[in-house]
Amino acid sequence: MDSPDHASDSAAGTAPICSAKGCRTAAVWVLAWNNPKLHTPERRKTWLACDEHREHLSTFLGARGFLKDVVTLDAWSAADR
Ligand SMILES: [Zn+2]
Repeated sequence: MDSPDHASDSAAGTAPICSAKGCRTAAVWVLAWNNPKLHTPERRKTWLACDEHREHLSTFLGARGFLKDVVTLDAWSAADR
């Protein structure tokens, strides 16, 4: 799977960066996903996306049936997850 290699589960610390390969733009979206072959149903992996890559990354995850939620980084942080 051609997944972003600097994706992180942690949004703490420095300004979060888009998970798309080669992109260094500040992320504004959180894509929550789950691979049922690897993860329990409650588990959420997250990718971060800038405005430009939100559609690309959500299409990538959606095509595999992994995508669960797309929310703004502000909303995700506010939910304290
Ligand atoms: Zn990007």
